[in-house]
Amino acid sequence: MEFEQNTGLLLKALAFSADKHRHQRRKNAEKSPYINHPIDVTYLLWSVGNVRNVTILLASVLHDTIEDTDTSPAEISELFGEEVLALVLEVTDDKTLPKQKRKILQIENAPHKSPGAKLIKLADKCSNVRDIVTSPPADWSLERRWEYLLWTERVVAGLRGTNPALEKYYDENLSHGKRLLGLE
Ligand code: NDP
Ligand code: ZN
Repeated sequence: MEFEQNTGLLLKALAFSADKHRHQRRKNAEKSPYINHPIDVTYLLWSVGNVRNVTILLASVLHDTIEDTDTSPAEISELFGEEVLALVLEVTDDKTLPKQKRKILQIENAPHKSPGAKLIKLADKCSNVRDIVTSPPADWSLERRWEYLLWTERVVAGLRGTNPALEKYYDENLSHGKRLLGLE
């Protein structure tokens, strides 16, 4: 029964997120469908992090909906409940702030996030580091890609002690990326 309920909810979240992100593309040369990224993040939580908490998996599928689409907090709470909404809000940047400020706030706020939000942020950074290394935005210079990798390192420093497997996976991807981009 629980399996059926959880699977149904996950499929509902995937359908919802795919619909909300339907007009968006990742910033890579292939312009991949945006939904590939929340799916990637969620599968990293499941397969690398061994996360089995359905609230966290649902929030991961939905993690960029409020930040990047017209999704309202009320929609998320009505469809998926208050706990999922609280997690999504914890990983949502305040887009009324300038970009540079948002990036500083991510570093400062990371250590104070709940364990569930830390997990989602860790997997999100793993996914983005891999993308910056293997399928970066077409117009980004090497320096900008370096800057991005170094920024994630500072955010992830505040997320450690949450999930050793995901942290190891991040470290391996970061080292690989740094070598490939000539940072070390
Ligand atoms: P953005 O925030 O604009 O882009 C990175 C974000 O885009 C990721 O965190 C990810 O977020 C999403 N994303 C979409 N497609 C990809 C992809 N293929 N690979 C990786 N991420 C992707 O850029 P920055 O993080 O660089 O932030 C902008 C900052 O950069 C500003 O502060 C500005 O001052 C500075 N800047 C630097 C320049 C330079 O040359 N050094 C030039 C211009 C600006 P999500 O998980 O939400 O999808
Ligand atoms: Zn993301």
